[in-house]
Amino acid sequence: NFGGIDLEKHFAVIGDPIAHSLSPIMHQAGYKTAGYVADYQKFQVIPEALGEAVQGLRALGFTGWNVTVPHKEAILPYLDELTVEAQRAGAVNTVKVKQGRLVGHNTDGSGLVRSLEDYLELSEAKKIVILGAGGAAKGIAMALAPFNVDLLILNRTPERAKELAQKVREYGGQASQAAWGPGEWIAQADCLIQTTSIGLKNESYPFSLEGIRPGSVVVDIIFNPWETPFLKSAKTLDCRVLNGIDMLLYQGVNAWEFWFEDRAPVEAMKMALYQQCKPIR
Ligand code: NDP
Repeated sequence: NFGGIDLEKHFAVIGDPIAHSLSPIMHQAGYKTAGYVADYQKFQVIPEALGEAVQGLRALGFTGWNVTVPHKEAILPYLDELTVEAQRAGAVNTVKVKQGRLVGHNTDGSGLVRSLEDYLELSEAKKIVILGAGGAAKGIAMALAPFNVDLLILNRTPERAKELAQKVREYGGQASQAAWGPGEWIAQADCLIQTTSIGLKNESYPFSLEGIRPGSVVVDIIFNPWETPFLKSAKTLDCRVLNGIDMLLYQGVNAWEFWFEDRAPVEAMKMALYQQCKPIR
């Protein structure tokens, strides 16, 4: 605030590619509703230019920015400190400039957890199965680690599932791994989170969910297509299903709350986002 006039705050998302990003639309809708004087841009930053881009954003007085593929891990050496969430995930999707220092944070996993809380009571012991062990799975598993949940991780490349389960245990969570394919776990799962990129091109899942308990919560973190073949089959087995749009929403909401230290206008952000990608029925 300068002489009673609010100075405009600047935010952005950096990634490569970046044209598809819905973050500007979601955040700008939020500023409008909350009455904030701020803008949010998207910048394509190639990997070789990441260090310069970070210095540039700081020099230009940006308040904060989001970080997406492929920079979430590569940005770590350019930051001054990391929050517990970023340390746990080993990746950063949100940066805040605090008294000139760059603070890296991670809201991807907590975004999924917040979207899940509308469907599941995480304080009760739950068996949660995660399919996949890539970057997204890692953020989710590490965000679930502090809850009273028993994680089972399955991945096509089994070593990655084993490593992730071990990391969850190092942080005090409960986790183990199982072979990629159907098994006893199907009947035991309270919740199943599909994090692989299999459904992106409308491909079918390599194994069936036959035997899953009706009423279990099944998540596919993809939202384009809006309903993957995986979610469609879970629906026919009477599961409660959700796609990844609310994960995207709540990673943005959590980033907003980290930047402004204030509650985000969730409904406005949600409406802006859903308008962009929910198919008209
Ligand atoms: P990564 O490349 O880090 O990981 C990909 C994962 O998918 C690995 O577990 C990989 O297994 C598995 N996989 C890929 N192809 C196959 C296949 N044909 N059969 C079996 N397993 C396969 O990607 P991310 O974790 O960053 O992203 C994964 C998905 O999540 C993407 O579709 C992305 O769009 C989505 N996403 C959604 C978000 C949201 O906000 N809703 C946020 C972030 C990501 P393996 O280890 O064996 O290679």
